Amino acid sequence: MVGRHEKGMDVNRRNFAAGLATLLLADRAAAATATDGDIAAGAVSLTYDDGLPSHLDVAVPALERRGLRGTFYVTWENIAARADDWAGLPARGHELGAHTVHHPCNIGQLDARSFADREFRPVETWLDRVAGPGRARDFAYPCDVTNLGPGSPNAQRARYEAMLRGLGIRSARNSEGPPNPADWVRRHPFRLQALAVGYDAQPLDVFNYLQRARVERRWAILVFHQVGGGPESDGAVTATQHDALLDMVLASGLASRTVGEQMRSLGA
Ligand SMILES: [Zn+2]
Repeated sequence: MVGRHEKGMDVNRRNFAAGLATLLLADRAAAATATDGDIAAGAVSLTYDDGLPSHLDVAVPALERRGLRGTFYVTWENIAARADDWAGLPARGHELGAHTVHHPCNIGQLDARSFADREFRPVETWLDRVAGPGRARDFAYPCDVTNLGPGSPNAQRARYEAMLRGLGIRSARNSEGPPNPADWVRRHPFRLQALAVGYDAQPLDVFNYLQRARVERRWAILVFHQVGGGPESDGAVTATQHDALLDMVLASGLASRTVGEQMRSLGA
């Protein structure tokens, strides 16, 4: 290993081309030797957080031009003005998941029941109506925060998970960690790991993340926030960058699935 890298992988521009070739050529070999039928060749999900207008106007058209589908974790206060537009996405093969009503990031003082009533029930009721009873029931933690109410971090996380299960939610995603192995997903469906594009993750980091999922037959989950025009933020990517990342996903050889599709294929 030359040099030190945050994620323990050998990343530099010189080996980019070699890595891409490996990624593409690994396709047949991985398929031939796969022992885990659930993520046989690796999988990738494209997720979009916060219910931003740019998702409707920029991300969805870019996905559909490529035959891809996204999982959109919507925050009610952001989608209310265009709720009818959002409600049309499931019929086009996209998936809607919950991301609370007001996107609270400080929940250590909250009671689980009032948290559920205030931040979840309105969104869940709307999702039931627009996506139907057979919909995927996924959630993304606002701000990656899982410490609900008092107690130790483990107690807080357990309280949060119990509340989500009580609402009928079956998986929850944060924005950190390596691609998900199948057994991790089955054991910890409320701890799905993902890579947030545009914060610390530059295109080469995304490439290496997808390559790792391909080689190790894991489930990669990418997280986007602002796509194209809109308020400047750490997680923003331009429409051109987003296009390039979708093309990278297509070239990766990974099976592109919504979060709900992948959960179902894992029997989780
Ligand atoms: Zn968010």
